[in-house]
Amino acid sequence: MARTDAIVLGAGIVGTSVAVQLAKHGLAVALVDRRPPGEETSYGNAGIIEGNTVFPPAFPSDPVALLRVALKRAPEANYHWAFLPQVAPWLLAFRAASSPQRLIETAHVMRPIYAQAIPEHETLLAEAGATRYLRKDGWLKLYRSERAFEALARELALAQDFGIPFRKLDTDAARELEPSLAPVFRHAVHWQGVASLTNPLAVTKAYAERFAALGGVMVRGDARTLHRADGHWRIDTGEGPLDAGQVVVALGPFAPDLLARFGIKLPLGIKRGYHRHYRAAGNAALVRPVLDGEVGYCLAPMEQGIRLTTGAEFADRDAAPTPVQFDRVLPTAKKLFPLGEPVEATPWMGSRPCFADSRPVIGRAPGQDGLWLAFGHAHWGLTLGPATGRLLAEMMTGVTPFCDPTPYGAERFTR
Ligand SMILES: Cc1cc2nc3c(=O)[nH]c(=O)nc-3n(C[C@H](O)[C@H](O)[C@H](O)COP(=O)(O)OP(=O)(O)OC[C@H]3O[C@@H](n4cnc5c(N)ncnc54)[C@H](O)[C@@H]3O)c2cc1C
Repeated sequence: MARTDAIVLGAGIVGTSVAVQLAKHGLAVALVDRRPPGEETSYGNAGIIEGNTVFPPAFPSDPVALLRVALKRAPEANYHWAFLPQVAPWLLAFRAASSPQRLIETAHVMRPIYAQAIPEHETLLAEAGATRYLRKDGWLKLYRSERAFEALARELALAQDFGIPFRKLDTDAARELEPSLAPVFRHAVHWQGVASLTNPLAVTKAYAERFAALGGVMVRGDARTLHRADGHWRIDTGEGPLDAGQVVVALGPFAPDLLARFGIKLPLGIKRGYHRHYRAAGNAALVRPVLDGEVGYCLAPMEQGIRLTTGAEFADRDAAPTPVQFDRVLPTAKKLFPLGEPVEATPWMGSRPCFADSRPVIGRAPGQDGLWLAFGHAHWGLTLGPATGRLLAEMMTGVTPFCDPTPYGAERFTR
């Protein structure tokens, strides 16, 4: 019977980061996944380390915008009819969490962990020899209408209070930063402190290699075999049973598949998202990720090409892909930036694991000694992976956490 101090279930960016941080705290750790590291949700994101986040995306307050979504005309969101009854309670909770007051509360409770996002990545990137994937040119958000730009006022004021750097730019100033953008927008905000990655998959794999270099063990296995045996947690792996006193569930959108077996039911929603790479036509290029938020897509320069990522799709996690949002955004995207031929035959799809209050769950599993949770990072799993890893490792090893973990506890749903 193999035994270790801790088992981390899930080798996405979150689980891999947790495993590295636990190993750095001196624990013997096994990182278990059914696939190689980083190949699920963490593969396909826009690569933005968005430590500047103030307000999360909110439920539309404009009835016209809502109607467009309902009529399946909105480029930024899509849904499957059959999924509506299942997602309705989550959408109601999301709407409640989108009130102006709640958004401000969220901004305050999330600030300490966002503030640590880039420093923790920089440390791990340096230790993993992967700094070549890091870009520190910020990101650019574009606004086509005066109305959308004016609606930013509260968020920018709060960003200023938090000391988050940004510059408001007109079209010409934004095009000095990104000359290949066409002048189809009126305003832009350059969030200078944001970093981004040119290959998120390579970075998760580099963190996994760092974990192995620290003595960590990577094991293939199915997390759903987790059970209690002889006073320990036990998992069946390809290499036989493995025991540990502590287990971390870092299964991203797949966490409920396991937790249901232990009677833990947290209100995790799914926002599916797609990406596809395109070659840039001619000499066109992007220096940094660009968000065309009113249309609902992001263009992120990656090693593989320009990665176009889509907004949210509310559908069963395991239902067949329906990448209709590409048809809705592509004509507009091509007028902003000269996208050429697609690189892949079909788009990639992933599922953002989202709680309606836009906070992850980081901390103890309710009612299960030695079981810890680190999932539900929604639009910010890449951003928050390493900071989550540090926070959880500090909690698990009795070190004073770098920030108060209470707002991220699962108890907020069970109280
Ligand atoms: C289109 C899109 C764009 C995004 N852009 C950004 C961005 O720019 N910045 C940002 O910060 N975030 C972004 N995100 C969100 C981010 O990608 C996710 O929050 C993050 O990848 C979640 O990581 P994770 O480790 O929790 O989950 P995952 O990466 O899904 O990892 C979970 C792991 O668990 C494993 N697993 C599942 N079930 C089992 C089982 N039964 N047994 C064993 N292993 C199992 C899987 O194989 C997987 O490796 C984006 C997401 C999407 C979809």
